[in-house]
Amino acid sequence: MKTIFEKSNGISGITLTDEKEDLSFIDYNLLRNGKIGLPEVSELEALRHYKELSDKNFCIEKGFYPLGSCTMKYNPKVNELLASLDGFTNLHPFSDDSDCQGALELMYKLQEALKKITGMNAVTLQPAAGAHGELTGMMIIKKYFEVKGEKRKKVIIPDSAHGTNPASAHLCGFEIVPVKSNEKGQVDINELKSLLNPDVAAIMMTNPNTLGIFEENVLEISKLMHDNGSLLYYDGANFNAIMGYTNPKLMGFDVVHLNLHKTFATPHGGGGPGAGPVGVVEELKEFLPSPVIGFDGNKYFRNYNIKHTIGSVKGFYGNFGVLVKAYAYILMMGDNLKEASENAVLNANYLKEKLKKAYLLPFDEPCMHEFVLSGDRQKQDSGVSTLNIAKALMDENIHPPTVYFPLIVHEALMIEPTESESKEVLDNFVEVMIKIAGETKTNPEKLISSPHSTPVKRLDETLAARHPDLKYTE
Ligand SMILES: *Cc1c(COP(=O)(O)O)cnc(C)c1O
Repeated sequence: MKTIFEKSNGISGITLTDEKEDLSFIDYNLLRNGKIGLPEVSELEALRHYKELSDKNFCIEKGFYPLGSCTMKYNPKVNELLASLDGFTNLHPFSDDSDCQGALELMYKLQEALKKITGMNAVTLQPAAGAHGELTGMMIIKKYFEVKGEKRKKVIIPDSAHGTNPASAHLCGFEIVPVKSNEKGQVDINELKSLLNPDVAAIMMTNPNTLGIFEENVLEISKLMHDNGSLLYYDGANFNAIMGYTNPKLMGFDVVHLNLHKTFATPHGGGGPGAGPVGVVEELKEFLPSPVIGFDGNKYFRNYNIKHTIGSVKGFYGNFGVLVKAYAYILMMGDNLKEASENAVLNANYLKEKLKKAYLLPFDEPCMHEFVLSGDRQKQDSGVSTLNIAKALMDENIHPPTVYFPLIVHEALMIEPTESESKEVLDNFVEVMIKIAGETKTNPEKLISSPHSTPVKRLDETLAARHPDLKYTE
């Protein structure tokens, strides 16, 4: 494909200035004396160019995107329309409270909705993403113990946790203590007991964990932790697994973050930014970042008066546009938020049952929003790795699942269909996955050299990430 500069043919799609305009008010030395060198093509050619570029990209609007743990579901377009309303986009963050009551009301009501959904007592909307929410939550936990005068340095994290959990706790200055999963893919309670002592500040749990399995003993775990004087952090990035059915408060957690750019249908990835609100129980309310949006029964206001606040974790109030989209989604769904969870869980279990003959299912348990297969059998029988299977899916207009994660499963394929896919789409995925499993025996070379139909073919995974070649050459 040619660059827009190479396509430039001198046809002007737009007239920027009136040539006859009197420019004598501009200092002569500052005036350009030649052409600026921008590409010139007609409007139609410009459109074709950018459409061709966008076609090289893969997105949820183009095909199935079962990227485990990332919840690549449909983001309703009406959310974009609402977030682009003049009253929201032309608002200055320094406006006086009395001049931005609408925006404050929206944030307040979103806080209230998220309190209801999580069961928590107070919410901050500031963090910009999931991992940022984790860091905020861990800073709150750290400060809580500081104020209490307790020196607790350790955070327990199950080996099935999302990778960002240990990273966030570590960044916050905690020491990480891993706890193993048992044969059911759940926290090994006896091992957990053996790790408890007055040095433990908290446990960070993803529930359902990254195997998509709900921790059956979660109530026992929260009792053990609280009896030890420790707190519980809930990674609620994939809240579509439980939304409306249960919540972290009922399970005994003290802090939770949500990913609005997963569960609440706002774009993420390159289409971000995201938002990772954090909810806390009553005892931690006075530690939230400031400001929190308040309501005095008459007016909405920014509350900076938070006794032990950890300070601000982001400029102003977080990614406001994302908050508008998430609030629109919550209002639109209403009680059907519960149905979203039902369908997310149903879709994942449907795929799991359909695929467990063709691929190894290391933890054969009912799953929540996702499940993890292993490509071990294919790897051993024919040398076709999970990576090759992932690449082969790209040739079928399907985004690969998350691979090689969680680390406790060999050749892992972590599959999350989300609630927004139809049975036809799921059945097509099953058909393709079974076909690929067959090809690992009949035509392994094809899989090992895939993808064949994408704009760039097989990349060196390490070099492509560490030394991306961003320079254009023919
Ligand atoms: C996506 C995810 C995160 C991290 O969220 P980001 O917005 O990417 O920072 C954390 N935990 C879990 C379980 C996730 O799925």
